[in-house]
Amino acid sequence: MTDTASWNDEFIETALAEAHVPSLINALVHMTGDVSLIRGEERPQSQLFGDPQGGISPAHQEAIRARACDALRAHRDAGFPELPPPAPALVKEMVDFITGVELDEGYGDFLMSELKILDEDPYRVSLDDLPEAARRDFHVLVIGAGMSGIVAAIRLKEAGVGYTVVDKNAGVGGTWFENRYPGCRVDSPNHTYSYSFAPEDWPHHFSPQRVLLEYFERIATEHGIRDNIRFSTEVLEARYEDPGTWRVKVRSPQGESTLVANAIISAVGQLNRPKLPEIEGRESFDGPAFHTAQWEPEHDLKGKRIAVIGTGASAFQAVPEIAKEAAQVTIFQRTPPWVSQRPDYHAPISDAKHWLLNEVPFYGKWYRFFMFWTTGEGLLSMVRRDPEWDGNPGDDSNGERSVSPANDQLRALLTANIERMVGDDPELLAKCVPNYPPAGKRMLIDNGHWFRALKRDNVELVTDPIARITADGVEMQSGRHLDADVIIFGTGFYASRLLFPMKLFGKDGVELRERWGDDPRAYLGIVMPDYPNLFCCYGPNTNIVVNGSIVFFSECEVRYIMGCLKLLIEGDLAALDCRRDVHDAYNERIDAGNLGMAWGSPDVRSWYKNAHGRVTQNWPFTLLEFWDQTRDPNPADYTFS
Ligand code: NAP
Repeated sequence: MTDTASWNDEFIETALAEAHVPSLINALVHMTGDVSLIRGEERPQSQLFGDPQGGISPAHQEAIRARACDALRAHRDAGFPELPPPAPALVKEMVDFITGVELDEGYGDFLMSELKILDEDPYRVSLDDLPEAARRDFHVLVIGAGMSGIVAAIRLKEAGVGYTVVDKNAGVGGTWFENRYPGCRVDSPNHTYSYSFAPEDWPHHFSPQRVLLEYFERIATEHGIRDNIRFSTEVLEARYEDPGTWRVKVRSPQGESTLVANAIISAVGQLNRPKLPEIEGRESFDGPAFHTAQWEPEHDLKGKRIAVIGTGASAFQAVPEIAKEAAQVTIFQRTPPWVSQRPDYHAPISDAKHWLLNEVPFYGKWYRFFMFWTTGEGLLSMVRRDPEWDGNPGDDSNGERSVSPANDQLRALLTANIERMVGDDPELLAKCVPNYPPAGKRMLIDNGHWFRALKRDNVELVTDPIARITADGVEMQSGRHLDADVIIFGTGFYASRLLFPMKLFGKDGVELRERWGDDPRAYLGIVMPDYPNLFCCYGPNTNIVVNGSIVFFSECEVRYIMGCLKLLIEGDLAALDCRRDVHDAYNERIDAGNLGMAWGSPDVRSWYKNAHGRVTQNWPFTLLEFWDQTRDPNPADYTFS
């Protein structure tokens, strides 16, 4: 709703000074109908890195702000009239303008839905035409009340399908419920890390854990799904029985019981089982020792000597906070992360920016889209392998440095930034520059916080490999012993042990993880042959390294799953089972795709790969392709019973 009181001349001018000009130009096209604004010489160039205004000259920026000031005043003085949505062809032109790229026609529908210019819900599958009793009597068990489980429950409720959600935790939020380490915050821009149907006026560009958790708690309450959630309830095993029944054994504080469902949606995620490292003597340490995802807040770290093992996304966020109060922090690094600079990483969103996002017609949509593009689809070209490119110039033994000319340029840019931050300390610099291609592992986001922490007097970055953990600290292979009061493991999760530790027995009685081994595979990341009516959210090969928000994937997956349920209920069918040949062909394509990406580099070890080097976790293609392939299930991909 328009906050009419805030529309005074002075504030409009102040707010426009903070505007993202390419988004403002597109908003102006809506407001004025003047398409010459996007057809002139001044156009934003690729804005992936560097100048967020895309190189638009200061003079043109000023001219646009002045024009916007007039247009906004006129809009106010006319009583805030409703603005008509533009025609799809014009939207396409505006998209090309803001991205600086001429996009394929195939993006049409997808971009219209991402922009949410039309008042439609592109992820809603309507089951309204089906008999109410048939929908209500079809019962779905959702495992997990995190980000994916919440959207699954909301869509099931909306469609009138019977459902129960169970979660091992005492509250909703999944990852955001569990990860409470200091410094924990989202590292995808928040305006893209939110449900399409529940945009939020985020307080930060990258909000802290508490804010994220509150968002998911509020959405669960507002959508009335809480009564259907059983908290502190863990699935132990589920067995499929023909036709179309899953018997699910759960454990709760009341004891073990069995639930019966027609279908299961697993929304347990990939990163919910913390992994402690297999380091000799780990159990022998006398002091507190815990994982970042199992933070033990009762230990006061003030004045303590802390050993942190790992430099992935979790430790990277925790260390700068811990270092503020600890006597000494020693970080044990096996592999350095690539770090992408975002000056606004910790910045709150100013009043002016809130106003622009909430009040200026269409500005917020274009700004969100700009974020979606620059942190998503737009990045893929920089991390895709060029088969002609020599990534090991002059020295094959030193591993691959980059996978393409664009990736090499990215490497140079990121390296220059590390040099800027720690270049005055050559020893530290040498430890901080990765020797693998950018995006071989998740690139971390920072505003200098990490590197400044590394330069503190009470912080040491150690690259000596760990030999063992002792009763009073950590011994390195060099023989050096570090005395520590507390050990913090930022050592990641059992990602490729997907769905661990529950046991799911399919139609032939084989347990799913036994079938998978450490090689989880699914068709579209969602369904597995021989496990009828079992669906995954954030399943195999649906993780993203650089491009996009995982919320997008969950919404696509739930849309597809709802389409499958529709097929079943509409056809009065008991079960659908994915065809093995369809599944296998799909996985071949995925594997080839992943080999063509930076994270497929044979020189990189990461949680994306299993012990055989196959990328089991990541999606290698565009967001458009995932959106397209999850629009509607194709009945020909399934056998029905
Ligand atoms: P991670 O990325 O798997 O990092 C684990 C770290 O521990 C790596 O530095 C790893 O070194 C090191 N390590 C593992 N075992 C070790 C051992 N035995 N000895 C020494 N070092 C060892 O785990 P994470 O940091 O928890 O992040 C996991 C994922 O969670 C991220 O990739 C991201 O997708 C997500 N995440 C997101 C956010 C966010 O949005 N803000 C925050 C945290 C996590 P190597 O690299 O050499 O294996």
